[in-house]
Amino acid sequence: MKILVVEDEVQLADALTEILKRNRYAVDTVYNGIDGLDNALTGIYDCIVLDIMLPGMSGIDILRNIRNEKLSVPVLLLTARSEVEDKIKGLDCGADDYLTKPFVTGELLARIRALTRRKGEIIDDNKLSFKDLELFKDSCSMTFGRNDVKLSLKEYQIMELLMANSGKIIPKERIIEKIWGYESDVEYNNIEVYISFLRKKLSVIGADIKIKTARGIGYSIE
Ligand code: CA
Repeated sequence: MKILVVEDEVQLADALTEILKRNRYAVDTVYNGIDGLDNALTGIYDCIVLDIMLPGMSGIDILRNIRNEKLSVPVLLLTARSEVEDKIKGLDCGADDYLTKPFVTGELLARIRALTRRKGEIIDDNKLSFKDLELFKDSCSMTFGRNDVKLSLKEYQIMELLMANSGKIIPKERIIEKIWGYESDVEYNNIEVYISFLRKKLSVIGADIKIKTARGIGYSIE
């Protein structure tokens, strides 16, 4: 899961980023409205945490632009107590939820989990399944039957992306954007290395699930 944080209070932004990363989200963080809009329009995020009062462009204007572009990414607005009017405007412009500063991190995480949940899904936030393969967030591991294996954070994130989109080919660029960030200089062969680790780990636990290569495009899980 990839989250964009747009917040100009650097300390708060960095604290949020740290908390989200510790909860195994991939995070991009920007500190002004212009970068916020640029990043948001890439369409690679699963959720955007958006401050309202920002230098360059307000959170409300960013939100308007996102919705004009028909991007349905969930947006969680961060508002100050005094910004009641903006909060209403934000919800009218297509924000999905808001959180009033200061907030406790548990609440932020719960709101993000709720926003990134697919509709109608019965959720175990800690677990993602594909056939008999299960991926666990808390322990950063996957199991097949009685066998389990630990994953590194990047392995976990790649596996999460593949399992959440099972049957679909995920292009390599998409994997880079989602996991390393779209300005990252990570190369395709880095991904290939992680995929080969994952394939070994799948075979270690005896999973009859394959990560297939779509030559020149990307990967899918089957
Ligand atoms: Ca602000």
